[in-house]
Amino acid sequence: MRKMVIAGNWKMHGELNETVNLISGIKNLLEDYDLKCDVIVAPPFTSLETANTLVKDSQIKLSAQNMHFEDKGAFTGEISHSMLKSVGCEYVILGHSERRSIFGETDEIINKKIIKALSVGLNPIFCIGETLEEREANITEKVVETQIRKGLENVSESDLAKIIVAYEPVWAIGTGKVATPEQAQDVHYFIRNLISQMYSKETAENLTIQYGGSVKPDNAAGLLSKPDIDGALVGGACLKADSFVDIIKAC
Ligand code: PEP
Repeated sequence: MRKMVIAGNWKMHGELNETVNLISGIKNLLEDYDLKCDVIVAPPFTSLETANTLVKDSQIKLSAQNMHFEDKGAFTGEISHSMLKSVGCEYVILGHSERRSIFGETDEIINKKIIKALSVGLNPIFCIGETLEEREANITEKVVETQIRKGLENVSESDLAKIIVAYEPVWAIGTGKVATPEQAQDVHYFIRNLISQMYSKETAENLTIQYGGSVKPDNAAGLLSKPDIDGALVGGACLKADSFVDIIKAC
């Protein structure tokens, strides 16, 4: 049975004091709440150590937002898997559309990162999704298929079980323009079928596929009610404890 997972991608937001306030706020609001899903937060690198201390006595898990595929070396400004693990990260977001479009990350680079993360026991949250132009050109499935096939090259079936896929249509990220539950469900269904062909039906059925793109408390329940939508990767709405927790409770 696959897990529902709500993850908050803080992006480049949150100095240390804000990290303390936000995580404490989430913990307070979830106190005594019987969680029906896994909850992950992905603060900026500078807040990870503090965040790790704060989440230790809670059910919240920690993710980083990116990682280099090399172990160490002359890569100014980059961060390695062992650095992330040393501050308690269990997950790492890889292939986010902002990394692809702003920082030029290719499917090949993302694949190297996924392989490295898996080899050291970090669970990738692997992001894919089409741009508005691609959707309007009716090539959403082709784009998503290419991203999945290239991103998962040489990933074994047992390793796939450690991955969360996040379908994030680029046109819906940070725009307030959310995909309808039906639009999202169609792509999630396509992804699950593709995984079934690439691996097996059982693996596909167990894969958590999150939706991301302007998820808010008022649209979360509609999206999460769809059979192939197994959670959400949340940007803007995760920066306020009450809206993030409302989305968690929509599970
Ligand atoms: C994201 O950055 O992954 C995201 C989904 O952002 P937002 O919720 O703000 O659209």
